[in-house]
Amino acid sequence: MIITTLAIAFILFIVVMIVFGKVAMFQRPADPNDVFTEKCSVCHEKLHKSLLIERQIGGYKMLYFCKKCIDELTVAGKKLS
Ligand SMILES: [Zn+2]
Repeated sequence: MIITTLAIAFILFIVVMIVFGKVAMFQRPADPNDVFTEKCSVCHEKLHKSLLIERQIGGYKMLYFCKKCIDELTVAGKKLS
């Protein structure tokens, strides 16, 4: 009888661990938009990829620029010329 009670308690413990594990897995991807967002390489502001211009540097490094930073770079370029 004691062994049966222990076995049931053990099974319940495993079930509770599985349920908590699944809850933790569901909570982990808190922001599904994270896949579609990138940080601007200049101001480090997190924006949606559609709002950023991406440039590949050296064949592997990807740089992202937001509109605000591009405008600032354009203004700086005009001042120099
Ligand atoms: Zn920026």
